[in-house]
Amino acid sequence: MAVPGIPVLNYHAIDDTDAHLSSANVSVSLQAFTEQVQWLHKEGYTSVTKDELREVVLKGKKIHDKKVLFTFDDGYYSLYKYGMGILSEYGFTATLFLSTSFVGKPYDQDDFAFVKHDRQLTWEEIKVLSKNGWSIQSHGYLHKRLNSLDKETLIKEVTLSKSIIEQNLGTVVDEFAFPYGIYTNQVLTELKNAGYQLGYSVHSGKLMPHARRYRLPRIEINNRDTMDSYITKVTTGYISPENERRSKMRDIIYASPVVKDLIEKITPYFGVGNH
Ligand SMILES: [Zn+2]
Repeated sequence: MAVPGIPVLNYHAIDDTDAHLSSANVSVSLQAFTEQVQWLHKEGYTSVTKDELREVVLKGKKIHDKKVLFTFDDGYYSLYKYGMGILSEYGFTATLFLSTSFVGKPYDQDDFAFVKHDRQLTWEEIKVLSKNGWSIQSHGYLHKRLNSLDKETLIKEVTLSKSIIEQNLGTVVDEFAFPYGIYTNQVLTELKNAGYQLGYSVHSGKLMPHARRYRLPRIEINNRDTMDSYITKVTTGYISPENERRSKMRDIIYASPVVKDLIEKITPYFGVGNH
């Protein structure tokens, strides 16, 4: 039985080769992705709009229809090559969280070495995604772990990526997804200062009314997912009941980002499994 809330799905790349088998957990195969999209369509899901999502988060509006949000991190060519067409065929759109310093670069970046047989999108391709209804939002400039930066560098990560996308596309950028899911209280403060309205974490669970606006939950979809595990994640927001228990406990403990920072200083791996 489905629980209320909106599943915000977190993808990275889509592979048409067997490379997804060796690319850690950041790729899904083209076949698996297609089946996942078809399943959502068959079950009556549609993409939540930006306005609808904000009413849920900021005003606590309850959504009764089956809604989903596709998000893709980093900015891989496979989203243009496969993702856009498959999603459009079934009436879905998506949000791309882009790390802007990599746009148009050949595929040789150490930071993305875990994605095989792909490259970074170009601005021309990103413009096509945008014209097809995709929302292009920020994933930082250099894809840095944001808990390891001095204040000046942190501000640059959140502001430069925003202004570069806005200049290239002429759209509003006011949403941010943390590289590696890593954030601190200081990061949340700088997002607010830079004018962001929403921030996306990789904490498990579905997005519920009045969700924490600067660290919204997302559900990671990866190459280990079967159709069964995918359906469990979409309908419950968690991989398993055990994951749900741990995540909900962590959510309570993490209610204050200051407390979260203190805990992660003492036990850096406390959040692992939810990042
Ligand atoms: Zn990333």
